[in-house]
Amino acid sequence: MISMAKSISCADAGADCSWSASAETEEELMEKVAVHVKEEHKELEVTPELVEKVKSLIKEV
Ligand SMILES: [Zn+2]
Repeated sequence: MISMAKSISCADAGADCSWSASAETEEELMEKVAVHVKEEHKELEVTPELVEKVKSLIKEV
């Protein structure tokens, strides 16, 4: 079985931003998202709703 990676991009979330990331696991990917949001999207409040939205946008690549 081929191992799948998880991937996400800001553009998928509707942000005007070219950032994207991938990771082996959802947990790892969400950590990368958290770091990116802290650095580049300080205006964003990371609510449980936002976390759920981001998780729903994660793609298997
Ligand atoms: Zn971004």
